[in-house]
Amino acid sequence: MTTAYSQDLAFSRDLFDTYDTYRETALTHRRFKQTDILPLIDKLKTDGRFEVTKVGESVEKRPVQLIKVGNGPRKVLLWSQMHGDEPSATMAIFDIFNLLRADGSFDDFKKQLLAETTLYFVPMLNPDGAERYQRRNALDIDLNRDAQRLQSPESVILKGLQQSLKPLVGFNLHDQNTRYSAGPTPKQATISFLATAFDQARSINSVRERSMQLIVGMNRVLQQFIPGGVGRFSDEFEPRAFGDNIQKWGTTLVLIESGGYPNDPEKQFIRKLNYVAILSSLKAIATDSYQAESRSEYNTIPENERYLFDVLVRNAQMMRGGKPVTVDIGINRYEVNVGNAATFGYRSTIEDFGDLSTFFGIEEVDATGLTVSPGLIHADTLRSLADLTKYRLDSLLQQGVTTFRLAAPSRATTHAAPVHLLQPTTSAVRPVQTGRIPTFLLRRGNQLRYVFINGFWLDVSSGSNKLGTGVVE
Ligand SMILES: [Zn+2]
Repeated sequence: MTTAYSQDLAFSRDLFDTYDTYRETALTHRRFKQTDILPLIDKLKTDGRFEVTKVGESVEKRPVQLIKVGNGPRKVLLWSQMHGDEPSATMAIFDIFNLLRADGSFDDFKKQLLAETTLYFVPMLNPDGAERYQRRNALDIDLNRDAQRLQSPESVILKGLQQSLKPLVGFNLHDQNTRYSAGPTPKQATISFLATAFDQARSINSVRERSMQLIVGMNRVLQQFIPGGVGRFSDEFEPRAFGDNIQKWGTTLVLIESGGYPNDPEKQFIRKLNYVAILSSLKAIATDSYQAESRSEYNTIPENERYLFDVLVRNAQMMRGGKPVTVDIGINRYEVNVGNAATFGYRSTIEDFGDLSTFFGIEEVDATGLTVSPGLIHADTLRSLADLTKYRLDSLLQQGVTTFRLAAPSRATTHAAPVHLLQPTTSAVRPVQTGRIPTFLLRRGNQLRYVFINGFWLDVSSGSNKLGTGVVE
């Protein structure tokens, strides 16, 4: 058994090391749309090994396509982006197609895979949601709460595929909140798994046991690349979700959730991990090697926990009612779609405040001995955002000037430069408290140490920074 494991690990390292050769270079960030992947699917039509079938349409009449490859007895159905703003695995699926198409590499593996399995892929099940970079479809329905009521055409398609193909295994591919940690630790859960429950009692039958075994194998593979960075999602039964129902309908359901990884906002490293994990698992299915896995190991994977803020400022001093108090400040940065959702900015918030000593920050700032005060508002009122180009923002930041007032309302909600802009109707009083945008200063005595703007920061003394987009409030 040790030998089989070490062979699997060597295979996955090989996939990892050669990944760049197969990465689909047309996809480079998360906010691609269906028009970006249709040409990639068209290319597959010219390859005799692939069969592309339109299996239906979204609410807004975008085609939903099924891509079939292989001729083996073990059927596997993989679908991604049921939630339109969860695209990591969609990118990985196109990387997998490139590997399958490349002759002269991994040939033994591919020969065996395509002889022992038939793979059915639905990349981007929710193209209307992807168009808006939103979770829900064009009916404002969450497809993953529509497995019973089936009010959305996309839900009907997915259930229809499961019922007609009756696959042995289904891969339900999602993204999760980047602030989940793997257990009560500072480690982000970069990938999380779930062997979905099929009843309230969370029973384990052979269908569900197989998903636990496949996950145990993928966890072992991923620990090589993200030690301590794999989590396990809660298996509370959700009667409306597809994963739970598909497991109930007799297809082994593997849920893979792409979380966060430091300095990987576009999730390109996480995409690579999806590629490695999915291909490793497909190999285990083709060879039945997963049957040697112990399902009890599944429970050793730490559960997803909520112990992370994007930024945690520790031990700051603040004046409250004339008295100094010690506080930690927990800051989260939320993405805001801009324009047609092809780009985005951030609007950050002070999520929590007080004693946060049991939590962690993906970024942490030690504010021991430093005092919080609001950012300074520039004396000039801007006639428009374009006026900003007249100012040297970097030197204003060094002085603690974070904010400008606008003379006329702006429709923008974020701004590319690190500056906090106030609409004419927004109060110029900027208290630092929960629910507010984290724009403030940290000083030691009279000396300015840190400038925070919209949850991003500059260390004035060292120049090191994590500056991001500004905000219009
Ligand atoms: Zn999801």
